[in-house]
Amino acid sequence: MTTNILFAAGPEAWDDYEPHLRHWLAEAGITAEISPEAGPPETIDYIVYSPSSDVQDFTPFTRLKAVLNLWAGVETIVGNQTLTVPLARMVDTGLTEGMVEWVVGHTLRHHLNIDHALTHQSGDWVRHVPPLARHRNVTVLGLGELGAACAQALAGLNFRVTGWSRSQRDVSGITCLSGPQGLEQALASAEILILLLPLTAGTDSLLNAAHLAQLPAGAVIINPGRGPLIDDAALLAALDTGQVGHATLDVFRVEPLPPEHPFWAHPHVTVTPHIASETRTETAAQVIVDNIRRGESGAPYLHVVDRGQGY
Ligand code: NAP
Repeated sequence: MTTNILFAAGPEAWDDYEPHLRHWLAEAGITAEISPEAGPPETIDYIVYSPSSDVQDFTPFTRLKAVLNLWAGVETIVGNQTLTVPLARMVDTGLTEGMVEWVVGHTLRHHLNIDHALTHQSGDWVRHVPPLARHRNVTVLGLGELGAACAQALAGLNFRVTGWSRSQRDVSGITCLSGPQGLEQALASAEILILLLPLTAGTDSLLNAAHLAQLPAGAVIINPGRGPLIDDAALLAALDTGQVGHATLDVFRVEPLPPEHPFWAHPHVTVTPHIASETRTETAAQVIVDNIRRGESGAPYLHVVDRGQGY
């Protein structure tokens, strides 16, 4: 029997994904019709999905078995009441590798004060010796697929890494904390704070004025998680007083970040345009097909979103 798959993630992504999806479907021995064209919704078994797709009402897809998201973040789809089948999010080795590289790179920039060297080339022989990583406290909020991988990579460079998550985790080489008191402790030691939380009701504006005040003075914030994790006005105020020394931000409440937003011109903010990590087509296609294979064989899907928790 033929498995019908709708690719609802846009024509550009289709060009990139099509050869890889066809390759992995053939490897898995799945006879499938896969297309970016909508066709009769009642014939579709799986939707490979981007939340920016035109497909927002899943009601007509009466035969649907699962929605397979190409993004790691699901905040814009998780509350969709018309989606009643399992929703799997993207966990991809390429995505994780990319995030580790971006986070390590930006952490080392601040740890080594590379900006100083870049801006002081005037002939002054002033020696600023950076501390060793073993003397630098880094906190990672979120110890999931991405947060745990980044925390471990930083610990591998000898940083003193604390991680915080909703449930108590056990990640080798990391001081793992949870709960409100754990957050207080995690923030209090965070010379460099990395945000790798999903956006949910429980994490929205988590970095507000009160929590920013708990950081050591001059702390650096690196946010590749989601923009609304931070209260923008509180961050700008904390940057202006020096409570926060620098913020490197990849994600924003409104994307693209509007040209008039004060983050662009702030001397202690670095903006990157949501490029910390991308889903990598080849490895992601394999993950998608693996989940289709599981669905077809009655095995549980991987990376299923917990609708109650919102991630
Ligand atoms: P994940 O595996 O679902 O991990 C999420 C982590 O956050 C878990 O440790 C979870 O705790 C913790 N968490 C969730 N809600 C919490 C709360 N209320 N309090 C404390 N901890 C909480 O997600 P992931 O794959 O690592 O991805 C994290 C986020 O990165 C994504 O949601 C997405 O927003 C972002 N992202 C950004 C980019 C980019 O290019 N900038 C790329 C990919 C992903 P538990 O361990 O207890 O579940």
